[in-house]
Amino acid sequence: MKKTIAVIRGDGIGPEIVGETLRVLDAVAEKFGHQFTYVEAPMGGNAIDAFGVPLPDSSLETCLTADSVLLGAVGGPKWDAQPSANRPERGLLKLRSAMGLYTNIRPARMFSELSAACPLRADIAAKGIDFVVVRELIGGLYFGEHTTSEADGEQKAVDVCSYAEHEIRRVAHVAFGMARKRRKRVTSIDKSNVLDTSRLWRKTVEEVAKEYPDVELLHMYVDNAAMQIVRDPSQFDVIVTENLFGDILSDEASQITGSIGMIPSSSMGEGTRGLYEPIHGSAPDIAGQNKANPIGTILAGAMMLRYSFDMAAEAGAVEAAVDAALKAGFRCGDIWNQGGTLVGCREMGAEICRRI
Ligand code: NAD
Repeated sequence: MKKTIAVIRGDGIGPEIVGETLRVLDAVAEKFGHQFTYVEAPMGGNAIDAFGVPLPDSSLETCLTADSVLLGAVGGPKWDAQPSANRPERGLLKLRSAMGLYTNIRPARMFSELSAACPLRADIAAKGIDFVVVRELIGGLYFGEHTTSEADGEQKAVDVCSYAEHEIRRVAHVAFGMARKRRKRVTSIDKSNVLDTSRLWRKTVEEVAKEYPDVELLHMYVDNAAMQIVRDPSQFDVIVTENLFGDILSDEASQITGSIGMIPSSSMGEGTRGLYEPIHGSAPDIAGQNKANPIGTILAGAMMLRYSFDMAAEAGAVEAAVDAALKAGFRCGDIWNQGGTLVGCREMGAEICRRI
């Protein structure tokens, strides 16, 4: 297969972690007989320096015409004084909106070799953590009307939360489609005992579920879900939820797996083109020092193979190579433990490539 990938290296550690991910993708291409073409799309602080804006039109065009987009991270103290309309993060928001990315997918998976970094009790961690949070990304409370007014001598603030059926339906399809490729269980999280938007959410998810009779659907209130994620995360396969609940629960889910440097994420819209990135930022404190852990970005590359290119075996090969490098004891600084072999970003990339 031939695929064109728009590459946003970004700022800080971005170029280092993306560089290693491209090496891994090259190893995949060689092993499985594919051809990946990389087209550079400057975005973030480096684009402000070179073009005066965080997302030049040429970069946007590259992303909108590629088969998929790989991103390192953007931002850093150098651009903190920029006016808010021209900050590096603005480029990312503009890109997400232009690509129509309405779903964010964040796996929460704990590597058994890193179980010491899991903040949960050992007997809970031993049952394993391997689930995915599918979050609605461009609706709900964050995108409703926000007003602050003054009445009777005090201020009053209102944030409007609204969902239309089509906004729920499309994200539910993503979750059920994903569950089909996993352990075939969707847990839909809402607060339907209180909120109208949640009642519509539940009803719509149930309608979509009828198209996936092979996938089990469970419902859970968000307050209970927050408890269950730390009480017994092994019960979850795919979680689907609205924007606000997903924002909070996906951070909780990331935290229980250990390090920020290990976790990938993808944002999807219509079609198969997605935006794939690690969940962390540009880590300016360790930029340019060969200290960054590239695994989150490499696993984002694996997600791209699986979800955008339908290359399940290739994605599995990347994930297995990451597992094998960890089993062999290689550790970047953020996941280092006694007895591990401390390596830099480049060496970790090389160890993973060797195991593809
Ligand atoms: P950060 O995630 O960049 O760093 C937080 C801490 O985690 C730092 O100590 C850092 O060294 C460490 N860390 C992060 N990724 C690591 C990795 N791969 N390997 C080893 N250690 C890692 O968060 P921050 O410091 O709050 O933000 C720095 C910049 O990144 C800011 O400008 C922020 O706006 C930006 N940011 C960008 C994105 C994005 O591009 N999607 C997301 C979050 C933050």
